[in-house]
Amino acid sequence: MERSYLDWNATAPLRPQAQEALREAFAVVGNPSSVHAEGRAARQLVEKAREQVATLVGAQPGNVFFTSGGTEANMLALTPAIETAGEKRPRDRLLMSAIEHPSVRTGGRFSRELVQDVPVMADGRADLAALAVAVGKASRPLVSLMIANNETGVVQPVAEAATIVHAAGGLLHVDAVQAPGRISCDIGMLGADLLTVSAHKLGGPKGVGAIVRRGDDVHFPDPLLRGGGQERGVRAGTENVAGIAAFGAAAETAQRQSVAEAAHMKHLREVLESGLRTISQSIVIFGETAARLPNTTLFAAEGMKAETAVIAFDLEGVAVSSGAACSSGKVQPSHVLGAMGVPEPLLRGAVRVSLGWSTTQADVERFLDAWRKLATALSKGGHGIAA
Ligand code: PLP
Repeated sequence: MERSYLDWNATAPLRPQAQEALREAFAVVGNPSSVHAEGRAARQLVEKAREQVATLVGAQPGNVFFTSGGTEANMLALTPAIETAGEKRPRDRLLMSAIEHPSVRTGGRFSRELVQDVPVMADGRADLAALAVAVGKASRPLVSLMIANNETGVVQPVAEAATIVHAAGGLLHVDAVQAPGRISCDIGMLGADLLTVSAHKLGGPKGVGAIVRRGDDVHFPDPLLRGGGQERGVRAGTENVAGIAAFGAAAETAQRQSVAEAAHMKHLREVLESGLRTISQSIVIFGETAARLPNTTLFAAEGMKAETAVIAFDLEGVAVSSGAACSSGKVQPSHVLGAMGVPEPLLRGAVRVSLGWSTTQADVERFLDAWRKLATALSKGGHGIAA
């Protein structure tokens, strides 16, 4: 059976350019820290990728530090010890929106009592008035706000938040993992002090990412990994040269093709959403009154249970997800929809469909065919899975 992969927010397929970069890098034998020719060849791959990732987010290459992914980058950034040239005392509070990814929600290396939530509004955007009040009560806050939510796709008011945070003497960390290739993630335009990116969401391999700082006045005196001093002391351990090279190639491609790819995804998403509505008028699309990523639809219908719907789609050859991939497998209601005030039955029924650059009209049609069957079963009180 042909399959349609519509779970790009969980992970994207490798771009051909990233595959090629992996193949080439695996043939390079050296350690990037070695001074001989083999080592220098490996170093060259890492530094080329650093430039490519820096260009993607509008930063200086020297401000990009490679990590094992978005989770590690978030953990590295979220520490009271983060320093700026003008402020070396520990950060006294971590403020974060209630809809952050679990890798932020755990609070990094802040103790629990220093972590505070910023609520979101019913449309899925962070409440900036509440943020202003919260930063006003802290003296050296670190604030974490994602650029776009992985479940709803709702784009967050990051630039406005940056103005509020900076006026209060705070620092802003932005989890930009879901943005590249879909919406702009220029660190300067966002006003972010720190930015997290992950390779596997933009067509690079899994297990590589980066923390990026806007200016070199931000320091990481408290690395997670200490040892050989790689990544200028910020992240010890021999670099994942092949992964990093492929991350660079994917970043460059995502950036070059982002306008065309975003338009392609947006068009298909419109076809998908209007098809969903034609088949069943009662569906709810979460966050649809706010600006959203062009590729994401999170929806629910009366009587639908997310886990069984995901299985029903899977049996029809369509891969979708029930909320976040990290929490699927264990059935738990979405903290994102909970924060948006979505009531229980709907909250447990949300299915996420996320598209990518190679999604086709046929994929959307396969999804809609599967939905038609499922919606019919639901209207008869069933769950759409053949016995
Ligand atoms: N932040 C967001 C918004 C994500 O969607 C994810 C992955 O699902 C992460 C962080 C974690 O990134 P990684 O899988 O590279 O650790």
